[in-house]
Amino acid sequence: MILEFGTAPSRKVIRLLEEAGYEAVFVGGSVRDHLLGKKASDFDIATSATPEEVKCVFTHTIDVGIAHGTVMVMMDGEPIEVTTYRTESTYTDHRRPDEVKFVRSLKDDLQRRDFTMNALALTLSGELIDPFGGTKDLQNRKIRAVGNAADRFHEDALRMIRAVRFSSVLGFEIEGRTLQAIEENASSIIHVSVERIKAEMDKLWKGMNPGKALATIADTRLAEHLPLFPNDVQFLSACAPFETADQGWSALMLAGQFSPADLARAYKLSNREKAFLTDVKMAFDRRQSTRFTIDDYYRFTLEVLLTAEKVWHASHPSELGISVEEMAQLQKQLPIRSKDDLKADGKDLMAWTGQRGGRWVGEWMNKIEYSVLHRHCPNDAEKIKEWFLNEYERQG
Ligand code: ATP
Ligand code: MG
Repeated sequence: MILEFGTAPSRKVIRLLEEAGYEAVFVGGSVRDHLLGKKASDFDIATSATPEEVKCVFTHTIDVGIAHGTVMVMMDGEPIEVTTYRTESTYTDHRRPDEVKFVRSLKDDLQRRDFTMNALALTLSGELIDPFGGTKDLQNRKIRAVGNAADRFHEDALRMIRAVRFSSVLGFEIEGRTLQAIEENASSIIHVSVERIKAEMDKLWKGMNPGKALATIADTRLAEHLPLFPNDVQFLSACAPFETADQGWSALMLAGQFSPADLARAYKLSNREKAFLTDVKMAFDRRQSTRFTIDDYYRFTLEVLLTAEKVWHASHPSELGISVEEMAQLQKQLPIRSKDDLKADGKDLMAWTGQRGGRWVGEWMNKIEYSVLHRHCPNDAEKIKEWFLNEYERQG
């Protein structure tokens, strides 16, 4: 018996649904992670109540995906996703069910889920419902499709990427028939929206065994059908593990020799992610010819430098790299981190010279920034004034 699973608000949601005469259980990732002894975060709930019925039971609800049967219940300040038991029928486009049908049977709901380890449910009283042998597969560390793997990938090709994503996150093997079905259906990944692929890849990068997942992507030839992916993943795998998804995307870019813009476009990366990749590419190019200089520590964030160094080191395994501590230390020792840290600004320059503003102000601020950064002048208002007036007069 499993006691006290879930958060107090999520347990309350189930109890209130039960009191209203419906079935309600914990499902999906939280149950799986709990059985693995891992801390779960999202406690998704499945129920026999229809979305309309769910909305009648609770006072605060938000329609987040009502067409798919999901209602967000706000319980004691916590958002809890409650999804009506459903089946999905006839997928004609490999990605979306043509019709979502609400059902009253939990087993039918579990049957439409992707892998046996994700088709587990847990009741409030701690009873585990496991119609497809998910517990056994968890014990054997196997990712196995529920039912016929080929059919399931045909219904929704994203599940192939989810399989490799889980193999990275959990370090599990993909079971033989499931793996074979990925090989046979790899090309159908082109029907899946890149946003959904990207969301799974973000989790894949951060997993404990991305190298294994990347090898599977190459071996099953999923790589050939993904928006942009190197066919040879050896170098990419050598960069693993990754601390962040940003690092994973960066390694993918450098391993495949893709431009930041091309990779960002292919996977619809955010502007922030694209900017990160652009910086990593520049830092990596610098690193090819030199160890990072003061200007690099000043220009790039530590995360960008760490990422560029990581990939550089993977391509030069026998050479001495720069340690994380050393990079952090060097960056911390910089006299300034940005122009804002300077103890003088454009207004000071105008006051000191009695001149009106103009292009010259920015140009001189750049010179001051450079000289303070390189310790030609201390970052002190008086000293900067002295240095500046001296240089200003000298240069006319
Ligand atoms: P994580 O812990 O990373 O969130 P998860 O298993 O909870 O993993 P979600 O994407 O949050 O993954 O999905 C929740 C549940 O919904 C899954 O456990 C699975 O039962 C079901 N599910 C999600 N996506 C699919 C899919 N494409 N096909 C079938 N079932 C799916
Ligand atoms: Mg989840």
